Amino acid sequence: MEMIRLPALRRVAICGGAHGNEMTGIYLVPELERQQKEKGDAAWSVPLTTVLSNPHAIKACSRYIDKDLNRCFTSPILSSPISEDTPYEVQRAQELNSLLGPKGSEDAVDIIIDLHNTTANMGLSIISYEWSNSVCFQIFKHLQDKITNVPVRLVLINVPPVEAFSLESVAKCGVSLEVGPQPQGVVRADIFNIMKQGVDAVLDWTETFNSGKIIEGGEVEVYLIQKSMDYPRDPKTGKPTAAIHPQLQDQDFCLLQRGDPVFLTSSGETLSYEEEEPLHPLSINEAAYYEKGIAFHLASKKTLSFPSIQAKTD
Ligand SMILES: [Zn+2]
Repeated sequence: MEMIRLPALRRVAICGGAHGNEMTGIYLVPELERQQKEKGDAAWSVPLTTVLSNPHAIKACSRYIDKDLNRCFTSPILSSPISEDTPYEVQRAQELNSLLGPKGSEDAVDIIIDLHNTTANMGLSIISYEWSNSVCFQIFKHLQDKITNVPVRLVLINVPPVEAFSLESVAKCGVSLEVGPQPQGVVRADIFNIMKQGVDAVLDWTETFNSGKIIEGGEVEVYLIQKSMDYPRDPKTGKPTAAIHPQLQDQDFCLLQRGDPVFLTSSGETLSYEEEEPLHPLSINEAAYYEKGIAFHLASKKTLSFPSIQAKTD
């Protein structure tokens, strides 16, 4: 099997609260800080930066104040001039880019693990733009090996050559951990434990990598987002006229076939899946996506292989 050698990891960042109503990261980051204080430098083998990304939104227990922070990490927004009318999240994105980046530079942190929740029944999903980043695939495989009490899936956003706009894209390797189902503004201990296991597993992997051990490559199954489906809407008011069908609710990552029920209208009519190609729905009925015009994403499934990896220790 092919093997690549990469520099040892120098800095890892764990970020919570990019969305101020996704509570797991908001609870986990202070816990990691407590552990770091207690154990000192010996807590983790790689220097760890912890961040609560959107303090104003966290205080308001709202996804954002002026603008979705997790859509602000593009070059034009990161380099835009700041005035008193600048949305809060644009200012905050620039601060975070100074702290963790600059994006695309040698100085950027090696890994950002960005912690999110979903109201959809998605187990632990790793969401990434990293199509060819062997570190990302290695981390995913490690999470899948370590965490067995909940499904662990890798979702690749199928948008290159569009520039990645989310916080984790500031790092050399960005990984977003999305755990659900959890309502907005709510902390569930079972979801917290899954996220904690996920973070521990990533840190565990960085330790093994930095020790210089060869970590075997392999194959992973990935979900590639192909398109997003909106709710049927009233053409006049723009309001949704149907909800996710009960047979589809909570069935994230199932395979939808033509004719399967997808929506149930207020008047009781079932609307079916009309795509020719069977695809896997995810982020089904995500609360944050109502305003974005997304009822669920549709993904295809593919197996990708990735090389063995070893840190350069010389
Ligand atoms: Zn989020």
